[in-house]
Amino acid sequence: MKINATLINLYNVCKRELWLHANGINMEHTSDLVYDGKLLHETSYPQRPERYEEMFVSAEYKGFTLFGQIDYYDGRNKIIHEIKRSDKVEEAHFQQVKFYLWLLELNSVEGATGLLEYPKLRKTEEVFFGEEDRQWLEKSIFEIQALIENNVCPPTINAKICKSCSYYELCYVV
Ligand code: SF4
Repeated sequence: MKINATLINLYNVCKRELWLHANGINMEHTSDLVYDGKLLHETSYPQRPERYEEMFVSAEYKGFTLFGQIDYYDGRNKIIHEIKRSDKVEEAHFQQVKFYLWLLELNSVEGATGLLEYPKLRKTEEVFFGEEDRQWLEKSIFEIQALIENNVCPPTINAKICKSCSYYELCYVV
């Protein structure tokens, strides 16, 4: 099974959203937030692309193909930079960056760290990776597989973030 950083992120935000997305029901194109997020990446640090690179990273692990696209990677200092619009689902952002750090480690890049950046909030958070994170991610990829392969869509979560989710109408209005 293929598992990318988006699935890790969704696993932390909402299991229903993960299931819908993974089963091909995609409504992100209707979301202003997604467009806004893309714009944020392009405009927040205009000088950065010259110094750091976007980087695709992947690894084969216990029958899984794991992969992700890092926003910016500072190879000299081994720092992943991940830009986010808001910190509403900060825990999911942390896990996404930890997933990238794990992928680097699986590619023999040891000791890398992450920086979560919220340009609109003028806030940054450091992200570190350790044994507990490794174990959590190992467990999570098996749980994600089980969730996706289940024929039943998980229930709605009635959370604050539902209002800004691209599946809101599908979950609560239809
Ligand atoms: S609207 Fe809420 S319950 Fe539905 S997928 Fe989005 S976050 Fe999950």
